[in-house]
Amino acid sequence: MRPLLILLAVLGSWVARAAWIDEWRARNPVWRGAHVLLHGPAMAREIESALPALRATGLNVLVVEVDYGFAFDSHPEVRGGNALTREDARRLTEACHAQGIRLIPQFSCLGHQSWAGTTHPLLAKHPEFDETPGRYPGNQGIYCRSWCPRAPGREAFVRDLLDEIIDGFGADALHVGMDEVFVIGSEHCARCRGVDAATLFADSVDELHAHVVGRRKLEMLMWSDRLLDAKTTGLGEWEAARNGTAPAIDRIPKDIVQCDWHYEPLAKYPGKPREYGSLRLLASKGFRVWPSSWKNVESARAFATEARALGDPRMLGLLVTTWGAVKPEGLAGWEPLRVGFDVWKGKP
Ligand SMILES: [Zn+2]
Repeated sequence: MRPLLILLAVLGSWVARAAWIDEWRARNPVWRGAHVLLHGPAMAREIESALPALRATGLNVLVVEVDYGFAFDSHPEVRGGNALTREDARRLTEACHAQGIRLIPQFSCLGHQSWAGTTHPLLAKHPEFDETPGRYPGNQGIYCRSWCPRAPGREAFVRDLLDEIIDGFGADALHVGMDEVFVIGSEHCARCRGVDAATLFADSVDELHAHVVGRRKLEMLMWSDRLLDAKTTGLGEWEAARNGTAPAIDRIPKDIVQCDWHYEPLAKYPGKPREYGSLRLLASKGFRVWPSSWKNVESARAFATEARALGDPRMLGLLVTTWGAVKPEGLAGWEPLRVGFDVWKGKP
């Protein structure tokens, strides 16, 4: 009897989630979102308090980057400090839904496995998953560590973490990060050495897609910088790739939402181009694109304007990233958000 009740409860919550997201989609043809790094339960409460003001700006999606700040049960050794519990996560989702706001959690995959001198818990506790184990002590000489896409056991381990975040938040979508991967196909990894970077990157995307979209039936989002060729686009080596990953653009599933981020005004690029260009490129490949801006107001306005002017239904709206530049209570009044959202006004 008990397993049946659990099954019914799971089915019930799945049906409720599907109904909620159908209604959200019908009401929100334009995605006006913000991305925040979510550091612990106290910050979750700050976000909750800010929701009515955020809703009043037209915001209808919140992407919260959780990474290892979650009280994982499947692998408790990779719990970060000040971790969110499942209850914290569910409470935030419910608070967002009560305001008509969709909540999308993020877990950064592949790259960004360290920050400055700190290695994040996965590779700190499981160096056997590291692309460059024992190399670059103190993370000197690299931007961030990466996990090895081909390390035995790594895929199943990460799947457990993603499942806990998905179930904890009751998520209908997951942002998998995948940005700024500089360490890939390293000479220090016997499994990946000599393998084409685009193949390794595309395989990593496919692996995540098979789980998030294939098994879990969620929508998947990722940052798109590794799919853009810095040379042919004229974009910088952070927002676009110089390390051979870009051909993956033609090898990955088209139903992934591409979060295309650029933070500098056009005047700062060589040759002062008239448009960023990557939006058009990603859309031409068949992706839906969520243009993503940051704190530079001029850049946010220009990028949002370029997206809207394309008149392409694949352009979803605008995702305003914050990267610690504004606290939750200040976000609704933050100029880059106001300016960016204004560009999309007049659309339902
Ligand atoms: Zn490797």
